[in-house]
Amino acid sequence: MIPAKFDYTKPGSVSEAVSALAGGGEDAKVIAGGQSLLPLLRLRLSFPDLLVDVGGLGELRGVRDEGDTLWIGALTTHDEVVRDPVIGQHCGLLAEAAAMVADPAVRHRGTIGGSVAHADPAGDIPAVVAALDATMIAQGPGGERAIGAGEFFRDYLTTALEPTEILTGLRVPKFGPGWGYRYEKFHLTAQAWAIVGVAAVARRADGHVAEARIGLTNMGVVPIRARAAEAAAADAEATTQGLRSAAERADEGTQPPSDLHGGSDYRRHLARVLTARALAVASGV
Ligand SMILES: Cc1cc2nc3c(=O)[nH]c(=O)nc-3n(C[C@H](O)[C@H](O)[C@H](O)COP(=O)(O)OP(=O)(O)OC[C@H]3O[C@@H](n4cnc5c(N)ncnc54)[C@H](O)[C@@H]3O)c2cc1C
Repeated sequence: MIPAKFDYTKPGSVSEAVSALAGGGEDAKVIAGGQSLLPLLRLRLSFPDLLVDVGGLGELRGVRDEGDTLWIGALTTHDEVVRDPVIGQHCGLLAEAAAMVADPAVRHRGTIGGSVAHADPAGDIPAVVAALDATMIAQGPGGERAIGAGEFFRDYLTTALEPTEILTGLRVPKFGPGWGYRYEKFHLTAQAWAIVGVAAVARRADGHVAEARIGLTNMGVVPIRARAAEAAAADAEATTQGLRSAAERADEGTQPPSDLHGGSDYRRHLARVLTARALAVASGV
């Protein structure tokens, strides 16, 4: 289908983009890679009056090593995340998950900021961002603010970003010594969305899991932290059996959807199985 009529502007800086959004009000929308927004426009599920195209803003692209954290520009594409050596060295989970987003064509256009701002609970990157305890950086008319992953994802396709704010980047903690990671994605066909996904990071010490963080894809209207399984894993012996029993609690507090790809009980089962697998790899079992 052909999208409804809209005005279009391509600002030359973040501050111009923020002004354009402020001028457009509730009916203005940012477009980055267009991989999620364009299908919505074509289906007329979204019909903004004004599109603010941030795709040309070089200041929003790239990766910076800031000591204990990495800054990743919102416009960095999934493909760039996969290939970036600094991300590979300090935050391999993000690269591992980005490599499983869609197909090469989508990964070349779609951006990490677009995935996070779109906040699709079936998207791979939001659960990873939750497991990493990343911080989103937003720029609006009042200046810059930082929003933790726990506050960022509010509801289905809804984030803490104000309509006048641009997501400029993410701050992601680097993995320290002893940390491991894994993203497990269950999908019917390669390059499809996850029926369920599990992002796990774990720190192992003296044969035990000392700390674990687990983000779940497609187990509710927002990406969910599996807190009960995290707590159980933190006491567990780093053995297959120890991690399996921690993973039995992975679906606690979730509200998985039922759809053509599977019922909610099936998704609960998948979350437990995938969490056991992800924890095993993350903790080197
Ligand atoms: C065929 C296909 C398969 C896909 N498969 C998967 C998959 O397997 N896994 C997966 O996770 N995703 C998948 N996707 C979704 C897609 O890859 C991501 O959602 C996409 O990368 C979003 O990034 P974008 O730059 O294209 O965002 P856009 O489409 O440009 O924007 C998406 C939303 O985010 C907002 N936005 C974008 N950038 C900013 C910003 N800097 N500041 C504020 N708001 C912003 C826009 O206003 C819009 O609401 C698939 C998409 C397609 C078309």
